[in-house]
Amino acid sequence: MSKIPVKQIDSADKCSRCHASYCCTYFTHQIDTPRSMSDFDTLLWQVSHEQTEIYKDEDGWFLLLTTRCQHLQDDGRCGIYEVRPQICRDHSNDNCEFDGLCGPDDFDLYFRTHDDLDAYCRKRFRKWDKRFALFAKQS
Ligand code: SF4
Ligand code: SF4
Repeated sequence: MSKIPVKQIDSADKCSRCHASYCCTYFTHQIDTPRSMSDFDTLLWQVSHEQTEIYKDEDGWFLLLTTRCQHLQDDGRCGIYEVRPQICRDHSNDNCEFDGLCGPDDFDLYFRTHDDLDAYCRKRFRKWDKRFALFAKQS
């Protein structure tokens, strides 16, 4: 799930059954690989926002934002089909989200909440609970 999922309207049978239940309702954004406590502290802030999750897969680290495209119509069709962005045009419905492609089972790491990520950081960094004092010394 390393690219923004979008809808391919042309393959009518498959997409009409799906009604864009999967694509067009979220996007992903690749981020730099987090390494330091400061990096992970920033990720904690990001994952604290509603409808924002973080995952890592073979392509790297990503924010996953579950947010429906404003152009997705109630009938599952694209409201700006003729001028839809290129990334939407490039997306194929061959082996797409409808088929179960690229879900949480494919992630190496998956953080849905602040507490998920905080627990991971606590294991990863011995001084995680002292990070604010350490940040203050570094500034
Ligand atoms: S998830 Fe796949 S089948 Fe469903 S609308 Fe999108 S491209 Fe079509
Ligand atoms: S612009 Fe159209 S095809 Fe692209 S994500 Fe939005 S509804 Fe889907």
